[in-house]
This record gives sequence, C-alpha cells and structure tokens, in this order.
Amino acid sequence: MTDLEQIVSDAEAAVAATADAAELDRVRVQYLGKKGELTAQLKTLGKLAAEDRPKAGAEINAAKGKVQALIDARQQQLDADAIEAKLEAEAVDVTLPGRNAERGGLHPFTLSMRRIVRFFNSAGYEVVEGPEIEDDYHNFEALNLPAHHPARAMHDTFYFNPNLLLRTHTSPVQVRTMEQRKPPFRIICPGRVYRVDTPDPSHLPMFNQVEGLLIDRETNFAELKGTVVDFLRAFYENASLEVRFRPSYFPFTEPSAEIDVQCVLCLGDGCRTCGQSGWLEVGGAGMVHPKVLEYSGIDPEEFTGFAFGMGPDRMALIRYGVEDLRSFVENDLRFLRQFN
Ligand SMILES: [Zn+2]
Repeated sequence: MTDLEQIVSDAEAAVAATADAAELDRVRVQYLGKKGELTAQLKTLGKLAAEDRPKAGAEINAAKGKVQALIDARQQQLDADAIEAKLEAEAVDVTLPGRNAERGGLHPFTLSMRRIVRFFNSAGYEVVEGPEIEDDYHNFEALNLPAHHPARAMHDTFYFNPNLLLRTHTSPVQVRTMEQRKPPFRIICPGRVYRVDTPDPSHLPMFNQVEGLLIDRETNFAELKGTVVDFLRAFYENASLEVRFRPSYFPFTEPSAEIDVQCVLCLGDGCRTCGQSGWLEVGGAGMVHPKVLEYSGIDPEEFTGFAFGMGPDRMALIRYGVEDLRSFVENDLRFLRQFN
C-alpha cells in the first residue's frame, strides 16, 4: 500500500509540473495508460490471496480515480491559463490616442448634379446616359445642325477626326433615346461635356450638363415653363425666386428661350456676379423642333416635346456664392472641404 501512496504522490508532483496539454497527456499515459504504473498494479492482484483481492482492487481503483481527478483539475487550470494568456495578448489599450479617420465628401458639382437629378426623378423623369465620344451625326446633324450650319460655331468642338468628337452637349443622348424608344417618355440626361475654351471665371473646357426631354401627344410651352420654374425654386430653396424666359435661338428647339434666375447674391439689385443686371443665366429651353423629331423617326404631327438644358456647375457656383468656376477644379482641399 505504501507503493500506491508513493505512486499517487509522484503523480501529483508530475501533474503539477506540467506546462501544457501535451506534457499532461504524457503524465496520464505514464500512470493511467495500458502500460501505466497504476495499471501495472492491477496486474499484481493475481498474486494476492483471493480474499485480499477485492480490497486491494478497490484501493488501486481509488488511486486511479485520485490521479484522474488531479489530471482533470490540471487540464482545467491549463485551459483557463491559455484563455487568460490569449486575452492578455489581445488586450486593447483604450487609453491609446485614436487614429484619425479622414472623412471624404462629394464634390460640389456632384452634389449639384445629384440635387437636379433627384428633383426630376421625383417628377417621373428617368435618368439616361450616353457616350462622351460622339459622332457628328448625333452631336450635330440629328439636332438640326447640318454641316456648315452657322450655329456650329457656337460649339467650339474637340474633334478626333472629321466624324468623331467629344460631345459638346448631352443632347445626343436625347437623340439616341428618341431613336430607340416609342414616345411618350420623359428623360433626364446628366453628364460631362467638352468645348474648346480657355478656363476663366465662368468657363471650363470640361463641364457638366443636365438636359431634360419630354415627348408626349399633348404638351406645350406653359408646361415647360412650369417644370423649369418649379425646379429652379426647389434647387435654390426659394419659393418666390424670380425666373424669366428670354427669347433665344437654338437650332433644335422652336420656339427657344434662355432661362435666367433673379441673382441669388444681390436678389436683383445688381452686383459684380450678375454684371449689375440682377439676373443670372442658368440654361436654355424650348419646344423640340419638328425636324429633330423627324430625324429620330417620331411623327411631329402626332407628338410634341419640350427640352431644357442646365449647367449644374454654374448652378453650384451661384448657389454657394463662389466667384470663380476654376476654384472648383483646382483641387484645393481647404476650398472643397467647405461643401462636405
Ligand atoms: Zn447680382
């Protein structure tokens, strides 16, 4: 029996000395395995007298149970230590200073464009986009601007070759839509357009445009005017903003008008931005020329339409009271952050 006590005592020391699960398992095998020291004790039972066997067997089993309990306790301790060590290693030091997350913002031109698109979306206009590299036919000819038409001079065009160019307006998107769809429809075409221009306070060689087109069996200039006035008042958040239509000429609309809003900076009194006139030009509009409908295969006897075009960049300039369009494209973050 002293042997048993000695074995249990040795096992206790061995278990306590283990540092991880692998070492603990080796100790388990050493004492409780098939060839383990306590298992070996069971094999000695045969040498005892029959009446002594049950007692000795019970004592060996009790010793085995004791060692097993020691191993289980050690295993729990090792598991707990492992979790503790892991937590320690992954600890977050909440007292460390934070890393600054830089917040970006949309460009004011994008904001302006999105406001315009949002308004017309809510009025049932569908957004349609088209290629920025256009052919002469869609950019000019189908819009009633044949070769040598004097109005082509108003579009200082970037040409790739005599037929391919950077679109000078988003109107070709309207042409492509008229070619492909059966009216009635109402669409809005936002996008970049290009004209040969030296940048100055009110001109950039690349700028944004939004054009709208409505084709239906019955529509008229009053509806066009109502649409544009409602839009401008919503855009400038001024329900009593004065809007005026000035007779003008575009080859693709008849009659045509240029659209002015009361100068939002001086409210009509006259200032530098509006050239003392009290008005700011924001776009053009008109009833679609019957020839333009014909070009795209729409019967002008059955359908009429109106179209309007506006410059979101210039509208942003006016809305934010910025004096020079070039400020928007110089990528000075101090300037751009103001619009976040
Ligand atoms: Zn003014």
